[in-house]
Amino acid sequence: MLSDRADFPLRRSLPATEVTSEQHIWNWAQNAPLGPQTRLQRPQDEESLRHIITHRSGRIRPIGTTLSTGDLLAIQHEQDTLIDISGLSGLLRSSENSATFAAGTPLHEVYQTLKTLGRMLPASPGVIAIQTLAGAIATGTHGQGLGQGALADDVLHIRLLCADGTVAEFYRDHPWFGALQLGLCCLGVMTEITLRTVPLTVFTCFKSAVSAGGLQEEIYTWNKAFTFNKAWWFPEDDRVHVWCSREATPRERQRYRAGDAVALSAGDSSLNATVDQTLTHMQNDTRILGEEGRHFDTVTRFKDFTDLTGDIYQLFCRGIAAPQINVKIGIPLARAGQTIALIKQWYAEAHPHMHYPVILRCIGLAQPRLAAAHLLFWLRGLLCR
Ligand SMILES: Cc1cc2nc3c(=O)[nH]c(=O)nc-3n(C[C@H](O)[C@H](O)[C@H](O)COP(=O)(O)OP(=O)(O)OC[C@H]3O[C@@H](n4cnc5c(N)ncnc54)[C@H](O)[C@@H]3O)c2cc1C
Repeated sequence: MLSDRADFPLRRSLPATEVTSEQHIWNWAQNAPLGPQTRLQRPQDEESLRHIITHRSGRIRPIGTTLSTGDLLAIQHEQDTLIDISGLSGLLRSSENSATFAAGTPLHEVYQTLKTLGRMLPASPGVIAIQTLAGAIATGTHGQGLGQGALADDVLHIRLLCADGTVAEFYRDHPWFGALQLGLCCLGVMTEITLRTVPLTVFTCFKSAVSAGGLQEEIYTWNKAFTFNKAWWFPEDDRVHVWCSREATPRERQRYRAGDAVALSAGDSSLNATVDQTLTHMQNDTRILGEEGRHFDTVTRFKDFTDLTGDIYQLFCRGIAAPQINVKIGIPLARAGQTIALIKQWYAEAHPHMHYPVILRCIGLAQPRLAAAHLLFWLRGLLCR
């Protein structure tokens, strides 16, 4: 399948003739050098960031947790500068319906802070929360649910440090705002981001394992009937693991208050054999040793699954960041069924080797001005060999 090593480099695959890996900054996946250690700056506040920008010799590239692909993060010339923005972190101020964070705040801190304020973002979270707020906004990071969009959709205000060291403040009515929301750092370095917040709500997530036979129709049914839907499709076993979530009933909320995130059903083991087989593939393919296999928890958690009541972060933001070979495709929702049928046909003919299920997530967009102003159907799969 994806055999081109240039497009999908293995971890620490720098040619032996180049400078040694210890002298380089690497991206999180450890498969792309971003630049020499000597070209990295770590400002602790906006003033020192401004100093770096105004005294730079080449171009600058801010980096967050470096989860993105190397080509989005690496500097191109030896006089360019990498700027680690994680020193700019924390809640700066909040109002009844908004909260302003420093751009390098990790998402888990954003979510935890909002929870202590009794608030959450209207957009559902992605599967992990180790990203910086700026990195997640700049790349259109998203969760699931047709009634909400990407995290960037909840941005009300951006404070930007421009290439000449001046500060610019942008609000939603600015004609450039859509470009800034998904800016990929083309327009400047974000230092503050204000987010729209709503009251923290408790949801119940119903989990099931079903045949993949009706997937091309059911993907619409699940997404129309539930606030949040996510599905993992295991083509090898013709099975789909489905999470359908809606606001909790008063009784479910009562039980939740009595015991935090509450399991509502006995463990269902019907997916366990499929999960074991997937784990074997992942172990054989990634050959990642150490960390006591913790990265495989991202799949192991599908075993003995139960319905759950909890807040949106307890239910959906539970992934373990695990290096994988990953292809992510967004298509208009209307073409989801047709696309699933084509993938089924392709899978039957080609029998590709896969070490992770295809993930299906639908998102809508509250604000039509974002770059991808369509309903999107996200299909995420991992193919190798
Ligand atoms: C295991 C894993 C799971 C993931 N799960 C999801 C998911 O569920 N949903 C989803 O949508 N995505 C997901 N992603 C993608 C991830 O959310 C994005 O790659 C995100 O950009 C990572 O944030 P970061 O802090 O690592 O940013 P980086 O990768 O460090 O940076 C991303 C971009 O933001 C720019 N940038 C960083 N800081 C600033 C700043 N201050 N001002 C301007 N630009 C800036 C960078 O220059 C770069 O262009 C996942 C990725 C991984 C590896």
